[in-house]
Amino acid sequence: MTRPAAVLFDCDGVLADSEGLVNAIVAADLAARGWAMTPAECQEQFLGMAATDMVPVIEGRVGRLPEDWLVQLSHRIARSMIAELQPVEGALGAVRAIAAAGIAVAVASNSAREELQAKLRRLGLASAFAGRAFSFQDVARPKPAPDMYLAAARACGAEPGRCVVVEDSLLGAQAGLAAGCRVFGLTRETDASIFAGIGAVPFRRMAQLPELLGLR
Ligand SMILES: [Mg+2]
Repeated sequence: MTRPAAVLFDCDGVLADSEGLVNAIVAADLAARGWAMTPAECQEQFLGMAATDMVPVIEGRVGRLPEDWLVQLSHRIARSMIAELQPVEGALGAVRAIAAAGIAVAVASNSAREELQAKLRRLGLASAFAGRAFSFQDVARPKPAPDMYLAAARACGAEPGRCVVVEDSLLGAQAGLAAGCRVFGLTRETDASIFAGIGAVPFRRMAQLPELLGLR
């Protein structure tokens, strides 16, 4: 394939093996409010969704949430990330190889800014993405709107059509496509057929990414 001008990464499930930690925290919180859910059910219900979009769904089931619910949840998630987060297998090597090839990289995540920064620091990626890390709090609308990927492409000085987005969720892949980027869908949590059905290119392991991008 044509060498991309920039590679724009989702964070959770693409760089950070964070979904398990997050789902355990959210499941415990919701269970305490009367919505009994396993971490796996949480994953199914909320994969790729911004926390602000989760609120109406949750309030529909358990009634009004405390005013500071999102802030407190985000603090708890950030603390867990700092202590326990691991990278997705092959992700660090892929980012290094892409950056070493002179291709700009950025990250765009539906998580809160504090949470995203905690994850990047823990993974040793803060400097690789300095000035090019976007949270839903940095744009008007979270994924599946294209805002974050448009901002990430702009930060890389690249036309969206020359960018590759790497995603693991349907919502995120839709955001990348809506921004006009090519999208590669990592099939950890989402079936290859779902990605292929919307025009994204499914792939199985992060270690394959440099080769898929024509870098080796
Ligand atoms: Mg994700």
